[in-house]
Amino acid sequence: MSENSANIGVVGLAVMGSNLARNLASREGNTVAVYNRSRAKTDELVTEHPEAGFVPAFSYEEFAASLQKPRTAVIMVKAGRATDAVIESLVEVFEPGDIIVDGGNALFTDTIRREKAVRETGINFVGMGVSGGEEGALRGPSIMPGGSDESWVTLGPILTSIAAVAEGEPCVTHVGHNGAGHFVKMVHNGIEYADMQLIAEAYDLIRRGTGKTPAQIADVFAEWNRGELESYLIEITAEVLRQVDADTQKPLVDVILDQAGAKGTGAWTVQTALSLGVPVSGIAEATFARSLSSHAEQREVSRGLPGPADDAQSNWTVEDPEAFIEKIRLALYASKIVAYSQGFDEIRAGAAEYDWKIDLGAVSKIWRGGCIIRAQFLNRIAEAYDTETELPVLLTAPYFVEALQRAQAAWREVVATSARVGIPAPAFSSSLAYYDGLRADRLPAALIQGQRDFFGAHTYKRIDKDGTFHTLWSGDR
Ligand code: NAP
Repeated sequence: MSENSANIGVVGLAVMGSNLARNLASREGNTVAVYNRSRAKTDELVTEHPEAGFVPAFSYEEFAASLQKPRTAVIMVKAGRATDAVIESLVEVFEPGDIIVDGGNALFTDTIRREKAVRETGINFVGMGVSGGEEGALRGPSIMPGGSDESWVTLGPILTSIAAVAEGEPCVTHVGHNGAGHFVKMVHNGIEYADMQLIAEAYDLIRRGTGKTPAQIADVFAEWNRGELESYLIEITAEVLRQVDADTQKPLVDVILDQAGAKGTGAWTVQTALSLGVPVSGIAEATFARSLSSHAEQREVSRGLPGPADDAQSNWTVEDPEAFIEKIRLALYASKIVAYSQGFDEIRAGAAEYDWKIDLGAVSKIWRGGCIIRAQFLNRIAEAYDTETELPVLLTAPYFVEALQRAQAAWREVVATSARVGIPAPAFSSSLAYYDGLRADRLPAALIQGQRDFFGAHTYKRIDKDGTFHTLWSGDR
């Protein structure tokens, strides 16, 4: 270990940390100190990548001594208690002005708490969302840092040098103070849930409606990836569907257990949206759909429940497969627009609640590369926010109005068909219901207000007079 020889350090050398450390080391001018709780990972990384010129440390003291001041360290450990443990150790060996960055998937409220506590020691704390999985960490992720303006001065150039690049622009921006970066990363993951569920519903309807094989449907997705749906998730869907299982020679998708896992960021997005009062129904349906899929026992005992009367489900095939596939493509695009719009609403509401100044256009731009939800259509979102920074509903931007207009007949038909034949399409259906709810002249919420006033004297407002009203209902005693 050489004293003060590294300009940045990484703590936590599992897959994400070691790849991020390699990415940092590959950039001109960086020397990277590395530390892991158990020594084996450090030894392995340093031995396997001599080209990186890592500076290994085997204690927090050594790690601190190896860093130039102000010290900058990125933590990439298991989110939760491990993060607190590492922060505690770093605070003991760091000095005021140094910067601790948490690149794990922390809950943003933990980041707010940690930032406040660390700031009291004079050390800067930055919660940083990182998306793109292990490949992104190595080759260029989408990076969503929060934290103070002061930290961004030091961190900005380093992060810019390792981020993915989309259309010539680095996929990193200073999102906002304290927990803003992790908040935006959380919503990113929520949108990812919705996008994946929509794609899964599209696949299911195509397969059951046309009888195409997974490999044939892979061709459909590959074709879609050349148009307005172009995105990483559509691209990998084609690859997943094309994969053949080596043991059985069946399509791999047919031998994978149909129970979707989740690590909790979708649930966080929905829980947070509920407390902020933001209807992220597409993300919620996607999260619940994973949850339903994983209830094996309940599904088992429910298999005999009656389906459509004419057994439409088992006999169902569409007359014109190509026309049907095009309708699903349009329904997918419209529903996807809704999911992103809801996600951006949540970011706006979070910014208002926590006093962050988040540039929604900049967020859509940093998601264009490196991350899981990277998609061509994020350019359209960026354009919408560039034209009107305070756009209250993304769906009302001219490009999206046109897209929804173009898609809506097909969207309605797909949702109606899925209901008629008994194929679950919760994300398609809820997106359409949200769209119709938003555009309604009048909602039955008026009746709900009447009911609330009836049983709880909760009062209501009127359309024709100011003030708050209560009716003496006949049920009042
Ligand atoms: P991980 O499996 O989440 O965590 C393993 C690392 O945490 C190891 O280095 C481990 O050290 C360390 N650790 C656990 N408990 C510790 C403690 N009490 N004190 C110090 N170190 C401790 O690793 P990962 O998959 O590389 O992810 C790292 C972070 O990135 C996580 O927060 C994850 O959520 C986030 N993330 C992951 C992805 C992804 O695609 N995997 C994408 C974005 C963000 P030992 O070797 O000593 O056990």
